[in-house]
Amino acid sequence: MAVYLCHEQPDLYEHGAVVVGALPGRVALDRSAFHPGGGGQVSDTGTIEHAGGVVAVTGIEIVDDVVWHLLDGEVALEGEVVVRIDADHRSRVAQLHTDSHVLNAIVFDRWPGTLVTGAQINADGTGRMDFDLSEVDNDALRGLDAGVNDVIGRGVEVRSVYVDAGDAATTAGLVRSLSVAPPPTPDGQLRIIEIDGIDRQACGGTHLSNTGQSRPFRITKVESKGKRNRRIRFVLDD
Ligand SMILES: [Zn+2]
Repeated sequence: MAVYLCHEQPDLYEHGAVVVGALPGRVALDRSAFHPGGGGQVSDTGTIEHAGGVVAVTGIEIVDDVVWHLLDGEVALEGEVVVRIDADHRSRVAQLHTDSHVLNAIVFDRWPGTLVTGAQINADGTGRMDFDLSEVDNDALRGLDAGVNDVIGRGVEVRSVYVDAGDAATTAGLVRSLSVAPPPTPDGQLRIIEIDGIDRQACGGTHLSNTGQSRPFRITKVESKGKRNRRIRFVLDD
C-alpha cells in the first residue's frame, strides 16, 4: 500500500499538478489527490483543468507503479493542470466504507474471528460485504443495521495511524480480511483505521473523520453465497 496524498490530506479536493506522462485518454501527474480505489472500493472521480479546457476523470489505473488518470476523451494533456476531486462521490464512498467497518466490527464482536471474504463499495451509494459465516441464520444478519446506525448516531471519531507491519500481523483482529488485506507501505508500515472504541483494522481506503457524518445505513438483502459465505447488501438512506 503506497501512502497516497489523499491519506495525508483527506480534505484536499483541489490542487495544481504537472503532467509527467501522457497518452491519448490518460495522464500521469507529479501529484494527485485522487484515491485509486482498491480493496473493493471504487476510485475517486473528478476533473482535470488543462490549457485546452476541462476533462472528466472517470477512473484510475495503476500500471507498473504509474498512476494513470483515465480521461473522458482521447485528449493528451501537457504542462500544468488543476485537479479537482468530486467531493460528493468521495463522500458517498467514504460513508459506505466507514459504515462497512462498523458492520464488520459488529459481526466480529458477535461471531468472534469471522473473516471478511469480499467487499465492494460502489459510487451509487450501494455496497456489499461477504463474511465467512457458515452457521449463522440470515435473519440474524438482517437486523445488524440498527447497530451501525447507533454508532452513526453517537458520532464516534475515526482516525488513521501507522503501525509496524510485523507487529500488526501478530495483533488479533487487525488484519481481518481474507481477500482484501492491504500490503504494507514500502517502509514496512501498515495503515490502521481506528473507530474509537469500535473497530481497529488495516485499510487503505477513504473514510469519514467521524461516524456522525454518515447518512443512515440500511441493509437491503442478505444472501447465501456458497456453503460458507453470507453476502450483506446495503445502501445509504436519505
Ligand atoms: Zn476502510
